[in-house]
Amino acid sequence: MDDLRVGIGFDRHRLEAGGRPIVVGGVRLEHELGVLAHSDGDVLLHALTDAILGAIGGSDIGTLFPDDAEENAGRASRDFVLTACEIAARQGWRLVNLDAVVMLECPRLAPVREAIRQNLLALLRSLGASSIACIGVKGKSGEGVGPVGEQRAIEAQVVVLLRRREGS
Ligand SMILES: [Zn+2]
Repeated sequence: MDDLRVGIGFDRHRLEAGGRPIVVGGVRLEHELGVLAHSDGDVLLHALTDAILGAIGGSDIGTLFPDDAEENAGRASRDFVLTACEIAARQGWRLVNLDAVVMLECPRLAPVREAIRQNLLALLRSLGASSIACIGVKGKSGEGVGPVGEQRAIEAQVVVLLRRREGS
């Protein structure tokens, strides 16, 4: 019998003229606005990191990588995900699947959706991810209202399911 754990992660970054280029799941999006962030501001990878850490009852991204620490300035968010994977894998956890929603008004996510899924699959290999079928990613607009719809923010939600053999 496997032990199963679900985890959820959420992240939001403000959009602003002159911000860092928008990067989602490691893929750069062309847009006249940029993100305000201490790291590279990848909302999807930040939410994913928190989802993994949450599933194992661990810490959170802000505790592991304080945003006032010099070494985290402009840091590639893949480091955050890989660290969370390492912690979870060390405890015997493996990924069953993940599902993610990226909320941004524009540009549309569809053209880069597959590239993002491939990036996530590569990042999660150390957590046992082996098939693209267990990586769900979709884009959602804000329908012109709220912080996302008014292009003041980009957000992401991620749910992960992890499993562990009993006794490990
Ligand atoms: Zn973030």
